[in-house]
Amino acid sequence: MAKHKTPLLDQLESGPWPSFVSDIKQEIEHRYANPKGIDFQVPAECPDDLLGLLELSYVEGETHWKHGGIVGVFGYGGGVIGRYCDQPEKYPGVAHFHTVRLNQPSGMYYKTDFLRQLCDLWELRGSGLTNMHGATGDIVLLGTTTPQLEEIFWEVTHNMNNDLGGSGSNLRTPACCLGESRCEYACYDSQELCYQLTNEYQDELHRPAFPYKFKFKFDGCSLGCVAAIARSDMSFIGTWRDEIRVDQKVVAAYVGGEIAPNAGAHAGRDWGKFDIQKEVVELCPSQCIRYEGGKLEINNKECVRCMHCICVMPRALKIGNDRGCSILVGAKAPILDGPQMGSLAVPFVKAEEPYDDIKEFVEATWDWWMEEGKNRERIGETLKRLGFAKLLEVTGVKADPRHVQEPRHNPYIFWKEEEVEGGWQREISDYRSRHQK
Ligand code: SF4
Repeated sequence: MAKHKTPLLDQLESGPWPSFVSDIKQEIEHRYANPKGIDFQVPAECPDDLLGLLELSYVEGETHWKHGGIVGVFGYGGGVIGRYCDQPEKYPGVAHFHTVRLNQPSGMYYKTDFLRQLCDLWELRGSGLTNMHGATGDIVLLGTTTPQLEEIFWEVTHNMNNDLGGSGSNLRTPACCLGESRCEYACYDSQELCYQLTNEYQDELHRPAFPYKFKFKFDGCSLGCVAAIARSDMSFIGTWRDEIRVDQKVVAAYVGGEIAPNAGAHAGRDWGKFDIQKEVVELCPSQCIRYEGGKLEINNKECVRCMHCICVMPRALKIGNDRGCSILVGAKAPILDGPQMGSLAVPFVKAEEPYDDIKEFVEATWDWWMEEGKNRERIGETLKRLGFAKLLEVTGVKADPRHVQEPRHNPYIFWKEEEVEGGWQREISDYRSRHQK
């Protein structure tokens, strides 16, 4: 029986969605009943005190967690987020409530054995509460005490063959979609690249040396199952260089109603018979598709590889054969200057082992950011402050029209005089002379 009354939190259980309050209550009952007779190394009342403390915060309108503090494991500079409460006498079960981040496997595939081991470990040495997975992608183990940290670290690294994740001003745990393991639209092996870069940059992951956090995310295609473009400082998004493969016979079958569009995903849709004009042609963001005389044509030079047409008619349209990924830099959540999406830096790279070209780009970017970035400045903010052209200069990437949406209207791009060699002045004077005639 829970010892704290939580009338405010109880209201959160009344909505239509699953509630974390109900989950914690379940763990409270489980710990007090202790059917396996576990010798809990963290007070049994930990989840109970957690809800009690949260209720107090709701009543008083302020948090009762003190500022983090430095806790960690020997040899690592990140992976554990220290948390202490400011009411330890009243809520001893959460006097310490540290979070441990574990590096999740690529694509989040688990064996049940591993999950059992993890749950057993966390019942014994933690609160029993986990978050699968945190926003960055890690396995998040919520709530333990300082003396348990080394024990947990030993168990995870030695007996479970796993590693801690990142926290603080370092490389955060890289995350990827499930890629080629299950998806026919993956344009490169996102799991492999994620795994290789995680291993290559162990120092950067565990020893904070950056101005601020840095996230890698790997999406196999532009549908973005891990939302790399919005959530990572450097995103790798699958794309192709050649043409979308079109099977005209299957297009006709879609138009004739023999095959359900969107792979039948909108089964309850009520907008009538499939209309290729409205649902595909008119929704193409680059207006580069036409359907005339029973034939679908795509002007592939204008296609921005958004995947829309392919998603609507997956059996008729397929990604191209010359595949790889684009690299974008600078996305971040709204910390200081509002949210930012990643900006395209490398339009296309083949993404093949040993990934040397990708590593060169990563390292040149980091060298520059570590030199120029201010303390607690995400690379997207450094880019905004110093200009996108600077990134191109330090990484040796050639300026490309695809870097900007509207050339000459984009304040991101500053050309040096010697770079333009009179090019744009000539263009303007040509333009003027044509129009003054
Ligand atoms: Fe148009 Fe997107 Fe299809 Fe390219 S992938 S043709 S941009 S809808």
